[in-house]
Amino acid sequence: MTRKMDLPRIEKAVREILVAIGDDPARPGLRDTPARVARMYEELFAGLHEDPERHLETTFDENHHELVVLRDIPFNSMCEHHLMPFEGKAHIAYIPGGQIVGLSKLARIVDSYARRPQVQERLTGQVADLLAAKVHVLGCAVIIEAVHTCMTCRGVKKPGSVMVTSALRGTLHSNASTRAEALTLLRGRGARD
Ligand SMILES: [Zn+2]
Repeated sequence: MTRKMDLPRIEKAVREILVAIGDDPARPGLRDTPARVARMYEELFAGLHEDPERHLETTFDENHHELVVLRDIPFNSMCEHHLMPFEGKAHIAYIPGGQIVGLSKLARIVDSYARRPQVQERLTGQVADLLAAKVHVLGCAVIIEAVHTCMTCRGVKKPGSVMVTSALRGTLHSNASTRAEALTLLRGRGARD
């Protein structure tokens, strides 16, 4: 596999940051840090070089037009404003428009979009848009709950605060009773633990 990222360049940049903050990148504890961070970034940002649509290559024809709900999909991502992690759970509900998606694929789609510099609002919308555009769902709802370390470790320092975002498409946007049913299922026990 050819590398899509320039690891030596990341290492150089990390070493530069260590110098800039006034530490010594040559001291034993930091010696391997630039290389370690480079390998970690390669993993955390792998989604940049991945097409989330590839997880939709296999869908199943199914004449099911009721809600399908997948709750508590764990994910972690990187806040693009601070390059600090945010992590939490994604909850997805959709009403198939003729095709259903393997549950593990939904989780992979979340990961694909999460593994890049992100903001939670966009991540939520991207998952919903992909389902709406490529699976031709009648409606879908994506809710993401996450803790942002850029908020818990610095600045206003509010440990425990959880950010919740939602994206509603199709009938789950336009039909109040369908939306209410989906939101009740998405908020079932466990979603808020
Ligand atoms: Zn941030």
